[in-house]
Amino acid sequence: LEAGKIPARILYYELIMSSGMTDKLILENDLHKALDNDELFLEYQPQIDLQTGRITGVEALIRWQHPEKGWISPGTFIPIAEESGLIIPIGQWVLETACYQVKLWEKEGLPPLKVAVNLSLGQLFQQDLVEMVQEVLVKTELEPQCLQLEITESMTINIDQMTTALRNLKELGITIAIDDFGTGYSSLSYLKDFSIDCLKIDRSFVQKIQSNSTDEALVAMIISMAKHLQLNVVAEGIEEVEQLAYLMASNCETVQGYLFSKPIQPKLLQENFHEIQNNAQSILGQLTLIE
Ligand code: C2E
Ligand code: MG
Ligand code: MG
Ligand code: MG
Repeated sequence: LEAGKIPARILYYELIMSSGMTDKLILENDLHKALDNDELFLEYQPQIDLQTGRITGVEALIRWQHPEKGWISPGTFIPIAEESGLIIPIGQWVLETACYQVKLWEKEGLPPLKVAVNLSLGQLFQQDLVEMVQEVLVKTELEPQCLQLEITESMTINIDQMTTALRNLKELGITIAIDDFGTGYSSLSYLKDFSIDCLKIDRSFVQKIQSNSTDEALVAMIISMAKHLQLNVVAEGIEEVEQLAYLMASNCETVQGYLFSKPIQPKLLQENFHEIQNNAQSILGQLTLIE
């Protein structure tokens, strides 16, 4: 070794160690195998219609059970999948699995449900996205109106590319929701041009209901704006009856949250479907009595 010179390899190693890159590289490598090894699965969280108390839809949420590290949250591995491009095969698997599952439930006697599937930015700009979605619909025999794709507000930054991708998707007959609405910077002007069908109010607003009147006002404003634009509204992350009461009073249509059910595995959802629904109806019934 020449005095004072550190080989590039060691510098690189130090760099990745100090930035936590190794963990990420290991996870990325493991994620490659996860699909083939059946380590990925989906959970489903019911969405409740506030008029009827019925479960009208579910959101599909991906899970990873790592063989050594155990449960890894999507908040950790979805960004890795996005950066590495793995989101393309994983996203396709999610879509196929979710569409297949809701169709299966229907065949087994549950009422027809809408399924919401989260889409990443990389997928939205995937060349063959529309063909892929169409193939999945054909293969699973799911009616297009039963599929909702969720995109986030931050994706609306690439407004032109976005509009084209969404228009093509909409021609299939599916619907589009804006997820985590209110958290990303956005000019809102996309709402009039875009083929958006639904706004999902982010749970950060919902959870500040009762403690922060500004957030309450924002929630009410989003709901009223959505009505004017003829969009559906789903409020996410409802944990407390008080939050529900406020949302009902503000004419919110649909809610999703731990108060009714956590995301659960498909078998459990099927077995407990009526129990979850009865429980939701009884919570809603009590609220209506109080009012
Ligand atoms: P998201 O799409 O906004 O999903 C809602 C998140 O809120 C889920 O977290 C859900 O478990 C959680 N949640 C629902 N109700 C409540 C509640 O009452 N209280 C609290 N504290 N949390 C609640 P999860 O499953 O950890 O997913 C996190 C994010 O990961 C999702 O946020 C979504 O952005 C992303 N994600 C999940 N599955 C997929 C997928 O298949 N593809 C893509 N691209 N992203 C996904
Ligand atoms: Mg979502
Ligand atoms: Mg969300
Ligand atoms: Mg989110």
